[in-house]
Amino acid sequence: MKIVMLGAPGAGKGTQAKMIADKYQIPHISTGDIFRANIKDGTELGKEAKSYMDKGQLVPDELTVKILLDRVAKDDCKNGYVLDGFPRTIPQAEVLEEALNNLQDKIDYAVNVEVPDENIVRRMGGRRACLSCGATYHIEHIPPKTEGICDRCEKELVLRDDDKPETVQKRLDVYHEQTQPLIDFYNKRGVLKEVDGTVDMKEVFAAIVNILG
Ligand code: ADP
Ligand code: AMP
Repeated sequence: MKIVMLGAPGAGKGTQAKMIADKYQIPHISTGDIFRANIKDGTELGKEAKSYMDKGQLVPDELTVKILLDRVAKDDCKNGYVLDGFPRTIPQAEVLEEALNNLQDKIDYAVNVEVPDENIVRRMGGRRACLSCGATYHIEHIPPKTEGICDRCEKELVLRDDDKPETVQKRLDVYHEQTQPLIDFYNKRGVLKEVDGTVDMKEVFAAIVNILG
């Protein structure tokens, strides 16, 4: 099963993608996590990606597409995957589609997690991330067991640089301009599924499981 998660930054794509990955035993692939791991390790890719991420801009397609295609070619992706944060532009979606076409394959579901912009701004300010294992929490809605510490790996949680209020609005603008058109792209291919992302994360997940079966 090959799944694409759609939705604004902060809609809950990562939260749901991790739960999907656990239940269906497929890898969760987040281009944002891959970039953050590279930033943490100080790689050239990380340095280049950070210059865009900190401004709330998208990392250029050439760079992002290569990373994603390399990742989905790995052995653990044979039975499918859930993509979180990719594609984010029509050209990215077209490259993925072509690569899958060449394998007589396709995306089975594009799950759009719908959350209005006003809720997003509140959510991003409260998001805390573990840069070690990629887990995310929310200080009010989904708090860790111990404040500021990751439940899974016990490392310190941080407010992501790009979750600061001045960057969040820019990311939302970029989303509406460059990423939202993907809803229509996948709708035309008959694989779009919409879920209400404003309810409790368990309810969102139940709606997704209902769709995926
Ligand atoms: P995305 O991957 O789409 O950027 P995340 O999954 O990181 O979004 O979620 C953004 C923030 O909102 C996080 O702090 C997360 O804990 C919180 N969150 C996710 N789903 C819900 C929900 N259904 N209700 C309230 N908060 C949520
Ligand atoms: P995310 O963790 O998905 O919120 O992504 C964080 C940031 O990484 C984004 O704001 C972009 O700057 C960059 N990024 C992640 N995925 C992509 C992508 N598919 N295309 C371009 N930039 C991306």
